[in-house]
Amino acid sequence: MQDHLIFKNIIEKKTPANIIYQDETITAFKDIQPKAPVHILIVPNVFIASSNDIHKKNKWVIAHMFDIAVQIAKKENISQEGYRIVINCNKNGGQEINYLHMHLLGGAKLKSFS
Ligand code: 5GP
Repeated sequence: MQDHLIFKNIIEKKTPANIIYQDETITAFKDIQPKAPVHILIVPNVFIASSNDIHKKNKWVIAHMFDIAVQIAKKENISQEGYRIVINCNKNGGQEINYLHMHLLGGAKLKSFS
């Protein structure tokens, strides 16, 4: 698991990244190693380690992340053909960075899980 400071520094613009959207709650930027033609990461500005740490008081942040993910999908022209939204959690879920993030993937037919 990699340190959460990677994403904190991107949010605070201390580390360069291709930020495509930012507001007072979340930041969205292009994945450095895209797994699809469109691969965008959406993160909360306030640190949340993983989906295990979503609770009553911060669950509205997740709703906002979804809302913006759909808006970005429309802007990137992938909404009609479709896309995938993924949140990996911890070791078995394949979470590499210890900072909750949503993957928005699209622009091509993605491999099926089944
Ligand atoms: P995870 O496996 O934790 O769900 O996803 C972490 C993602 O962060 C990976 O897709 C990886 O390519 C991306 N990533 C790791 N380091 C950086 C970085 O420094 N900049 C950006 N833009 N993406 C990163």
